Amino acid sequence: MAGKGLWIAVVVVAVLAGCSPGSSPGGATGAGVDAGAPSGRAVAGDGSIPEGQSISLDDDQHAAIANLDPALLAAVRKAAADAKSRVEFRVTSGWRSKEYQQRLLDQAIDLYRSEEEALRWVHPPDKSAHVTGKAIDIGPTNADDWLIQHGSDYGLCQAYANEMWHFELLTTPGEPCPQPKSNA
Ligand SMILES: [Zn+2]
Repeated sequence: MAGKGLWIAVVVVAVLAGCSPGSSPGGATGAGVDAGAPSGRAVAGDGSIPEGQSISLDDDQHAAIANLDPALLAAVRKAAADAKSRVEFRVTSGWRSKEYQQRLLDQAIDLYRSEEEALRWVHPPDKSAHVTGKAIDIGPTNADDWLIQHGSDYGLCQAYANEMWHFELLTTPGEPCPQPKSNA
């Protein structure tokens, strides 16, 4: 994703946002962090993973994993199992609530002081494949390299040329991937 400053800001906002539901007198109105999540989500949370941290593909208790599209999660898990002897896959972002995605965009606009530049890196909530659970960010770099080379065997493709870590199901397994878009 974007620079370190953005992520520090995101963490601060995440902490502040986490305080608000309990202190709000109108707490029953549902102004919680994950208020934007569709109903029926089994795991609470907005899907945020702090900067510099990553989670396991097997962390079903984390909303970033639990709320992913099951087909995407299955494909990435299969790839990770096949790559296991050489690289370990870690997840730096998965499903995100609409509210969390908007927060990321707001912080990027603050960081770049340009909505146009921010939108090269962060989609608005209604366009982000992370919000629908159809995108996953993988690290470290050697795992990304492995997936860029072998991901199409599982239907997994790098979606954007400027994000080597961001993968979506964009092809039929065994078929070539479409050319990555130049940016978000
Ligand atoms: Zn991504």
